[in-house]
Amino acid sequence: MINWNRIKIVATAGPASESYATLKKMINKGLDIVRINFSHGTYEEYKKTILLVRRIEKEIKRPIGILADMPGPKLRVRGIVKSIPVKEGSIVIITKDTPKANNEFNIAYPIILKVLKPGDNIFISDGKYIIKVVSKTKKTVTCKVIDGQGEIKKGAGLNFPEVDLPIPAITSEDFRHMTFACANGVDFIGLSFIKDAGDLKKVRAHLKIIKAKPFLISKIERRAAIANLKEIVDSTDGVMVARGDLGVELPIEQVNILQKEIIKMCNSLGKPVITATQMLESMIENPSPTRAEVSDVANAIFDGTDAIMLSGETAIGKYPLKAVEMMYKIAKTVEPKIDRSKNIDYLEKDNLLDIISKNVVRISEVYGVKGIVVPTESGKTARMVSRYRPNARIVALASTERVQRQLVLPFGIYPCRIPKHVNSAVVFKLTDEFIKKSGLFKKGDKLIIAAGALHKKGNVSDFIKIMTVA
Ligand code: PGA
Ligand code: MN
Repeated sequence: MINWNRIKIVATAGPASESYATLKKMINKGLDIVRINFSHGTYEEYKKTILLVRRIEKEIKRPIGILADMPGPKLRVRGIVKSIPVKEGSIVIITKDTPKANNEFNIAYPIILKVLKPGDNIFISDGKYIIKVVSKTKKTVTCKVIDGQGEIKKGAGLNFPEVDLPIPAITSEDFRHMTFACANGVDFIGLSFIKDAGDLKKVRAHLKIIKAKPFLISKIERRAAIANLKEIVDSTDGVMVARGDLGVELPIEQVNILQKEIIKMCNSLGKPVITATQMLESMIENPSPTRAEVSDVANAIFDGTDAIMLSGETAIGKYPLKAVEMMYKIAKTVEPKIDRSKNIDYLEKDNLLDIISKNVVRISEVYGVKGIVVPTESGKTARMVSRYRPNARIVALASTERVQRQLVLPFGIYPCRIPKHVNSAVVFKLTDEFIKKSGLFKKGDKLIIAAGALHKKGNVSDFIKIMTVA
């Protein structure tokens, strides 16, 4: 039988995993989406990874998603050659110039030095080090380490949770990266630190100009995004619970509550959601995870996440394959225990697609069907069915490679392809042919075929068909 996990696995490519052999092994162990972090690396490296994934995808004949994750306005430690050793009480200096002393660094937007004031806290490396501004000159901000001991490394992330930063959420760098990523055929774009629906509007305007239709993943990782959560979820395609920055921008003890709220909202609106960061963090160094980490992954699945993500574990860790293997094992073990009853109560809008998707899943449970076959143009019908977390396999029949790959993300969907079609009569025929030829079903299997408004102009074909494979 085909390798089919309902909970999808995302893993970040990096020095530990970007070889052909490792990528292929990770994919064979159940990886669905390869994340390329545009904060570290060069276009040449990203392109190489994209080409490798596409090559492997062809070889194994399974669609693999590629997520290009934009850096956003994340500030990082720059301009240093050697790491800065620190302990409580050490002094570090942010400078506008090229750092001279070995406790100095600079940042990409020196304008920030202007708005910093004594007393402001700056978090480094997801809060591993906290420094406090003590004094300023025209060209420097002097800070004292108030927590943390070790080395501040080049490229370490900086958070300024108490400061309203005078930089846009989508930077000109991001727009340039998006153009490159789309020209190279990535399927998903991760938008870091977005704050409201207006940011998404700007991105969509840019994508229109470059004629690209990637699936937009809004990363929820700052206070403003939490305040504007509903409008962001309404206008985005998908979401990431970006717990790394979220746990610095907001008190860390709130992260679990926020995770549950974000996931719940995404589920109810049919927006696929990825839970990310530190899921199996200790596996960066160790071949097996802690009990707490395994429990965290399981709980994210119970919360209703569509996908679970690996970051450092596969990018720079010692055991990238074991980390993917562990995610797969946890997902497989927990999947059958998901409480699907709680999902059946989503607010039913007066909208045919809502009603169709809800009832398809109800019928599938009552009737014990093997598969829900969903011919889908944009992928929306399949995603709306997915949010009810049916037990049956959701076989989405996309007519473009783009939509097929984008459907790799939502829970329970097995994305397939049928040829481009022009009207509903052709869709019925193609769907029947697919069911006969795909090898996914056997004689006697009960199936539901469901589609919502396949062709908006004329030929509207909202239907549910129940059948037994002959
Ligand atoms: P990052 O996003 O790894 O790009 O920072 C995820 C997070 O903040 O959790
Ligand atoms: Mn982040």
